[in-house]
Amino acid sequence: MERLYCDLHMHSCLSPCANDDMTPSNICGMAMLKGLQMIALTDHNTARNLPAAKICADAYGLLLIPGMEITTKEEVHLLGYFPDVDTAMDFSEFLRGHMPAKKNKPEFFGNQLVMDEDDNTVAIEDELLIAASDLTLSQLTALIRERGGVPVPAHINRGSNGLLINLGFVPEDLSFKAVEVWKGLPCAHTPQVGKVVLHSSDAHYLGDIMEAEETIELEEPSVEAFLELLRRGRPE
Ligand SMILES: [Zn+2]
Ligand SMILES: [Zn+2]
Repeated sequence: MERLYCDLHMHSCLSPCANDDMTPSNICGMAMLKGLQMIALTDHNTARNLPAAKICADAYGLLLIPGMEITTKEEVHLLGYFPDVDTAMDFSEFLRGHMPAKKNKPEFFGNQLVMDEDDNTVAIEDELLIAASDLTLSQLTALIRERGGVPVPAHINRGSNGLLINLGFVPEDLSFKAVEVWKGLPCAHTPQVGKVVLHSSDAHYLGDIMEAEETIELEEPSVEAFLELLRRGRPE
């Protein structure tokens, strides 16, 4: 078993709400400075900065978990962790057809920059990424699993997009074996029994990426070992 310092929820400059300095290259560099060994990039409803992030992470020897933070029809934030970048990109393209036809207004929402590994802007995403998709929590959960990914409700105890605040409960029929709990707030519900509980930064600024304080223990340092842990949950 290996214990890895990690931060498993953060946004790049492709998410309109994130700072333009959050380039894939800067994110990986900052993660290394902070002593992290594993990160997930989880932009809102897109995976388009994952290819650059993967190149940068590989160059540093940092384990990158390909992720997205998807907005369900109920406006719940659901993290999707995927086995590889291609699968995440494929899901990102699929999701595009399930987003409202709404253009980004950069001056109002912020820039949506697709970057290469050298901090060059290679595209600007026009469709507004922070809108809700037309897929329900239950549909998205099934769709992510069909592709070999793992759905994890994000910051369940924070904001109207947190599952516990939005729905008031964690639906047992969806069999989540992992949830993300926001550390700065109490979590009245105790859905944690048998579940993996993730604490991450949800960083939108470089300085907010986590220090080396959260660890996760894996059979081996690989995406698959991480996904397997999330699928199994903790022994009760
Ligand atoms: Zn969120
Ligand atoms: Zn987020």
